[in-house]
Formats: sequence, structure tokens, C-alpha cells
Amino acid sequence: MGSTWEQTRVGMRWNIGDGKRVRFWWDCWVTTSSSLAAYTSQPIPNTLLSKRVADFVNEIGNWNWSLFSHLLPNNILLKIASVHPPTASHGADSFFWGASSNGNFSVKSAYEFLDDPIGNGDHSFWCLAWSWKGPHSIRVFLWLLLHGRLKTKKELNRRHLIDSTQCDRCGGPVEDILHTLRDCVTAKRVWSHLLPNHHPHSFFLCPLSDWLQMNLMRKKNNTSQEYWRVCFGVAVWRLWFWRNNFLFNHGSWESGFIATDIKARTKEILPNENAILVKTIRELLARDWIVHMEHVYREANSAADFLASYSLTKPLGLHVLPSPPPDIIGLLCNDAYGIAHSSLVLH
Ligand SMILES: [Zn+2]
Repeated sequence: MGSTWEQTRVGMRWNIGDGKRVRFWWDCWVTTSSSLAAYTSQPIPNTLLSKRVADFVNEIGNWNWSLFSHLLPNNILLKIASVHPPTASHGADSFFWGASSNGNFSVKSAYEFLDDPIGNGDHSFWCLAWSWKGPHSIRVFLWLLLHGRLKTKKELNRRHLIDSTQCDRCGGPVEDILHTLRDCVTAKRVWSHLLPNHHPHSFFLCPLSDWLQMNLMRKKNNTSQEYWRVCFGVAVWRLWFWRNNFLFNHGSWESGFIATDIKARTKEILPNENAILVKTIRELLARDWIVHMEHVYREANSAADFLASYSLTKPLGLHVLPSPPPDIIGLLCNDAYGIAHSSLVLH
């Protein structure tokens, strides 16, 4: 019942009274089927995201157009103009059932609405970016991605800004959004590190909009899917970053490193026991000093690996070891003799 009620609420449409309860971007108060977030032509600034309708009125009681007119298309602005700006004398905001013609709730209209919650405009697709749980900068990126606004070489070529559409990473003929983020062999290598074993067969086959919808859509009470949803958002964002770094800064493309970077950032977003630790490490890295990080395989760092495990056998606090613990001596000798270990690493 709870989740059905959540869905049914989407069929509610608000009548604006004092505008203090209704969320400007998220609640249905202008059109019957969609919230304003579905119509935005540009990313919504962070400062405006959670504002109520009453926050968009100026001192003399008119709509404060300068706050939002550049973010919405003209037909929607005209609809807003037809709504009386909120004022305290109108009393509290009230809602009515937007899915039936007379505004009264009926079980029949609720069922009809639930069958087609999207209505005629596919607003849920555009809302995928705003409903994504994570940093605002990534949400803005996802919004651009959902609107096909990434300046790939195909897009720059279409605007006659460059001659070639060729992918610089693999030499493929057309670098469009899907190629950049999924189909390029360099991107595929990153996905191979990230994808769960039983990922859908269609992951590498479906068109762009289906691909984004399939991976960003929220499914209720599904923890692994929630992890994937966050991971996917971070992955496309980072793939675009590393692609730009490769193109403009002549940076390298290390699939394993990029995948590790994506996983670490995903963990940072999702609540887990390591989140604070990762955050602290990032804060340390961001200080005014130069830090060089290098990945060393466990086998090549066996003494440090031993000490990390050894510390777990000790109580909390500082422990000074005046002499090496007996079990580490063999490892130190191996290091001293330069004994090599083979390790299978997949890139
Ligand atoms: Zn490529």
C-alpha cells in the first residue's frame, strides 16, 4: 500500500495558496502530468533545487521571473503566468487529484493513472538525472547526457567546428556519445572491471536512451541495483572526464586505474563504513602539497601487507616494534634477495 500511495501521489496536482508547502521544481502544480524539473532547458542551479513556490515571488507579490525564466521553455512560462502568484491571504496550498477531469479522487482514475504514470510526455526519463542520488555536479552531467549535450567529435563536426569525427582513442570512425561512453574498446575495458557477472545481455547492444534508462532507473528495495545506479552515474561521468583528459591533456588511459577510481568514488557516495576514511584521504590529498600515488601489487609489498594484517591482532593504540615479528623475517629476506613473484593482472 505504501509504495502504491507514493505512486498515486504523483497524480496529485497542487493548487497554490501561500506557496510554502509546494516544491517549485518537484511537485505538480503547473501542468497535470509533470513537475517543472521535467521541462528544464538547462541544469537547475543547486541553490534553487529545494525551493518552494513562495520563494519565486518578488517583494511586490509578482512572479520573480529573473530566477527561473531562463530555465524553462516559453509554453511552460505562459502556464506559470496563468497561475496566481502565492500570497498569504490565499491560505495553505491544497492538492487535488490531477488525473480525473473534475479533480476528485476516484479509484478508477488512480488505476488508469498508474497504468500510464508518464502520461503523454515522457518526463520520468528527463527526471532520471535529478532523482540520481549523488553530488550535484554529477547530476548536472547526467542531465547534459540525457539531453544529448556532450560535445563529442561527432557533435563538433555537425556544428562544422572540426573536420573529423574519428575517435582519438581507438581510431573508430565516429565518436558519438555511445561510442565515447560504452562502445569504444577503451571504454569497454573499463566496463569489464565494473559490470556484475550477470549483467543484461543488452548492456552493450541497446540504443542510448534505453541504455541510460535501464541503468539509471530506480527499482524499489533493491540494494544491488541501487549500488549499480550510483556506480553507473559515476562511471559515465568519469569516462567523460578521462576521455577529455586524454584528448586535451594527453593523459594516459589505464582501464584498471579508471575502474578503481570509479569504484572508490561510488563507495564514497554510498553510506558504508569506509566513507569517512575515503573522505579523509581525499582531504589529505587536496592539501597544498604534491602527492604522488603509485599502485603496488600486494605481492610486491608483502612486508607492509603482513604488518597491516598483524595490526589487527593488536589492541588499539600505538605499538612500537623494537624488533621484527618472527613471521615477517622471511618476507624481509625475500625482499633483500630480490625474489620475484608472478601475478596475473587483467587490463
Ligand atoms: Zn574509440
